[in-house]
Amino acid sequence: MSDTIERIKCLIVGSGPAGYTAAIYAARADLKPVMYTGMEMGGQLTTTTEVDNYPGYPEGVDGTKMMEDFKAQAERFDTQVRFGLVTKVELSKEKGGIHKVEVDGSKQIEAETVIIATGASASYLGLESEERLKGGGVSACATCDGFFYRDQDIIVVGAGDTAAEEASYLAKICKNVTMLVRRDEMRASKAMQKRVLNTKNIKIMFNTELDEVLGEKVVEGVRVVNNQTKEKQEIAVTGVFIAIGHKPNTSLFEGQLTMNESKYLITKGKSSKTDKPGVFACGDVQDHEYRQAVTAAGSGCMAALDAERYLASLDD
Ligand code: NDP
Repeated sequence: MSDTIERIKCLIVGSGPAGYTAAIYAARADLKPVMYTGMEMGGQLTTTTEVDNYPGYPEGVDGTKMMEDFKAQAERFDTQVRFGLVTKVELSKEKGGIHKVEVDGSKQIEAETVIIATGASASYLGLESEERLKGGGVSACATCDGFFYRDQDIIVVGAGDTAAEEASYLAKICKNVTMLVRRDEMRASKAMQKRVLNTKNIKIMFNTELDEVLGEKVVEGVRVVNNQTKEKQEIAVTGVFIAIGHKPNTSLFEGQLTMNESKYLITKGKSSKTDKPGVFACGDVQDHEYRQAVTAAGSGCMAALDAERYLASLDD
């Protein structure tokens, strides 16, 4: 354990669009923010290729490049961006209380405000071929990557609302969409099921699982297996969208902050306030509904404004 304890006004945990936007606003409000990036610096956008739907980039932008721009802008206003992982938190219950944070298992920080922007991670099936072809045709984000599969045949794995929504979205762009549903029914809401069932170019394969993604450098097809008959078949596709749910990165806050049944942090009303004074949450860690870079950035701005107002209220 390190014995020097660093005292700061504003700690930002996470480095996606929410975290960096919070940093830009907090730095400009003179909160001298310190950001710990987590292990995946830049967050989920760095796992995608081109971002075409973020306003201000008319030609589109590479996801990693965009996050470098976010970082440069945060640093321009003197945010300290540090590569490291927050490993423990002890959040104060008192207004004006100090939140104790441990980084990388040793460094101790005391923060007057904490902005949580740890995001969510898409769940994957865990196949070696799936991992290898991420960015080469395997994606977990239809709104990010769907455009690249115009008039092509693709697969969507999953049967919840996200899978149904992604399949509907992709059906407008792609030639044919095949949904792989592992049970004999879908989990998605009736309305969403109706939508996919009524879309001509969406085919649903029930009792079917993804066995392997085929292709060396890019996706050339999939091998699927019927889990009732054990029969396997290959389907030629160029894209595989995995939509089997997301996991919010909240294990650090378990028992300290209120979460919903899916472990997303709950914020109060339209604000970014959690149930601990001086602790704010923004981006995907508190939003399973929209999950867009631009909505995450907007909520990061809100969190910084809320932190600034909270500190001002202590001075009053
Ligand atoms: P869900 O957990 O609801 O659904 C995950 C789906 O993936 C299930 O159908 C599940 O199958 C399937 N799945 C999980 N693991 C595997 C696997 N290893 N192989 C094959 N299939 C697998 O996640 P969603 O992201 O769809 O939704 C999360 C929450 O967000 C839900 O509450 C949903 O209602 C909500 N949401 C709401 C939207 C809206 O209202 N517009 C849009 C998107 C999401 P099985 O059913 O067999 O368990």
